[in-house]
Amino acid sequence: MTRSRRRRLRIFLTVMLSLLLVVGAGVGAFRVSMSDALDSLQRRAGQRLDLYATSLDSEIARYAQLPGILGLAQPVDALIHDPNNVQRQKEANRYLERLAERTGASTIYIQDWLGQVVATSNWRRPDSYLGENDAYRPYFQDAASGGVGRFFGVGTSRSEPGYYLSDGLYDGQRLLGVAVVKISLSRLERAWAESKSLVLVTDQNGVVILSAEPRWKFSALQPLDAAVRAEFDRTRQYNRLPLPVLGLKTLRTLGSDARVVQLPKGAVRLPLDDPYPRHFLAKSRTLPRSDWQLIELLSLDAVYELAYSRAALASVLTTLAIVALLWWRERRRHLNDKLSAREALQRAYTELERKVEERTADLSSANYRLQAEVAERTRAEQHLRQTQDELVQAGKLAVIGQLSTGVAHELNQPLAAVRTLSGNAIRFLQRGDLATASTNLTTINELVEKMGSITAALRSFARKSTSSVGVTRLQRAIDNALFLVDRRLKQSRVAIVRPDAPETLAVRCDPTRLEQVLVNLLTNALDELAGRPAPRIEISCRLEGEQVLISVHDNGPGLADAVRAQLFEPFFTTKPAGVGLGLGLTLSAGIVAEAGGTLVADNHPEGGALFTLTLPVVPEDTHHD
Ligand code: ADP
Repeated sequence: MTRSRRRRLRIFLTVMLSLLLVVGAGVGAFRVSMSDALDSLQRRAGQRLDLYATSLDSEIARYAQLPGILGLAQPVDALIHDPNNVQRQKEANRYLERLAERTGASTIYIQDWLGQVVATSNWRRPDSYLGENDAYRPYFQDAASGGVGRFFGVGTSRSEPGYYLSDGLYDGQRLLGVAVVKISLSRLERAWAESKSLVLVTDQNGVVILSAEPRWKFSALQPLDAAVRAEFDRTRQYNRLPLPVLGLKTLRTLGSDARVVQLPKGAVRLPLDDPYPRHFLAKSRTLPRSDWQLIELLSLDAVYELAYSRAALASVLTTLAIVALLWWRERRRHLNDKLSAREALQRAYTELERKVEERTADLSSANYRLQAEVAERTRAEQHLRQTQDELVQAGKLAVIGQLSTGVAHELNQPLAAVRTLSGNAIRFLQRGDLATASTNLTTINELVEKMGSITAALRSFARKSTSSVGVTRLQRAIDNALFLVDRRLKQSRVAIVRPDAPETLAVRCDPTRLEQVLVNLLTNALDELAGRPAPRIEISCRLEGEQVLISVHDNGPGLADAVRAQLFEPFFTTKPAGVGLGLGLTLSAGIVAEAGGTLVADNHPEGGALFTLTLPVVPEDTHHD
């Protein structure tokens, strides 16, 4: 399952669960509220029903004894003993009329033992009961058979409903007639209607006989079966009233005496206000000493309203709680994310720091190594320089060694001359020829000076020079070099061609070292020229920008390719052992490079070797010797 699908599923489940919770909370709150309200309504209705039952019972009880004691009244007693006596009838009528007025009974009348009314309190009315026969009515039959009649019915003449109480009138054991007291319960109905209570009383067949709502009176709560209707026809209990079905529908039974009922629309007008409530709590109770049911209907509108609003409140609160929970969870997740991001960042930072430290350590150790290397190199360079200096010196001494025979030879001549001249001078002095002796001594002096200049040149050449760069007049360096090899040049009869560069031209190089380079080039040329016809060395000099190019060209055999390739390598020599060390050109190239110049070897187009050394020119005004 992909991440987004999982996420979608989670959202779906959350939404479903939330909906379930919200609906559940609503339904739960509704139920609890309803059951609470129904309980309290039931309690209230129960208390009121007690009250109504008591009032109804006491209303009836007031008259309960009246039929029984009527037989004791003289006019009644006289009448039932002689029912057809008109005079007695009149007296009884008046008596009953007064009694009804006094007691508040609706009608009081006497029937003979066959059920015919012989006296009645309403004798004055044209539709009075006089002469009627109610023998078919249960209250007569109950009383006639020795019991007490209790009957609710509707009057046959005026269809007035009333409660009939009856008792037999006897002469000893013989039934003479029946006394009936009819009481109207409309006073109670009015009181109920005024108290805005929806109270009704039904008989054992479910026919409404008393009701606070007048339209319900004489309707049946449930449809009546045929046997009951036939019985009603026989007894004319409801004087053949149609007894329509009220259409009360039980929605829920709450117990043996309580249920939730629904009324057909428009069934209730009074005493309740619009809009018509349709759902009621019907609380009932059986009245004492009868099969009647006392029922109170209580509107459930307010209860429903309260339950609905509580359900809505519970749903809203649950929604809020869920939203808060989700928000809290989201926030916690967000915080967690942030925290883990921060931790990751911290980890990355620590890692980075560690790497940087590592790298720094690497770098510093590399740096340390580099420094050590640099120091080592510097030491090696110093050592090299020292070695090179020593080598240069060694090279020089080698040249001097080579030159020494020449020099000795050079010194021998003047020495021999000095010896001869001095010997002569002694003799001239002994002879007293002072003038000649003086001339001899002057010559000796000149010769000694010449010898001194030779040794001075040698000494200066042999002097240990440092590698520090100095300034050299080019012509002087060439002079000195030629002076040092002068004897060999003369011996080999080598023709020398000198450059005619200006006397002041100076180059940047230590004088002794430049002389050493030149002496080396000249002696090499001389070596190669030995035994060659018309030997010739040409020294030339050319300015090129800031550089001066000094070349030494001989007409010797030139440089073979193999020799050229290794010319500047140390200890490379083609000369026999003891003659060449193979260091001359190596040292010369080193000296020139140190002075910032170059030394290259080539073959001259006209034959012979050509060595060119390039050195930086020193401007004239910066040197003063
Ligand atoms: P060395 O003179 O002791 O042999 P160098 O370094 O001065 O050492 O010279 C190395 C070699 O270069 C010489 O042995 C020689 O063969 C060759 N060489 C130098 N100068 C010349 C020249 N002018 N003509 C031909 N060969 C030369």
